[in-house]
Amino acid sequence: MKKHRDLISILKAKNLRLTPARRGLIQYILDHKDKQLSLLEITRFLETTVDGVNRSSVYRNLELLKKLDIIQELNLPKKGKRFQYIFDKEVHHFYICKTCGKASRGNKVLFGRIEKALKDVHEFSKANLSMVFYGYCERCKR
Ligand SMILES: [Zn+2]
Repeated sequence: MKKHRDLISILKAKNLRLTPARRGLIQYILDHKDKQLSLLEITRFLETTVDGVNRSSVYRNLELLKKLDIIQELNLPKKGKRFQYIFDKEVHHFYICKTCGKASRGNKVLFGRIEKALKDVHEFSKANLSMVFYGYCERCKR
């Protein structure tokens, strides 16, 4: 499992500055690996722990972590933008219910089938399967 140190070394390798805000953000995301975090809750936390942090600086750093494939942005119906840690997760596609906004992570079976279909249909391989499906969950379908 990847740790704070591993993520820090990615930033270092890209010559990105390790500001207190970035360190704090990475730690917060690691501490909430399985949660879909909103910009508001991330900002609230960082504002209380790091000086000079505001909503737009947090947003810029989130954009950076997105580019580094550390987090993925999800757009949840009725809830809005959420950020989910994906870095050491093999599978990061999600299916999201349009009615209740529940986001679930796809499993390896789904991943395997999509990868196979992509290869069979488009002769395309080793795709980065960051995908989001929108539909209706079992409960809301009824
Ligand atoms: Zn639902």
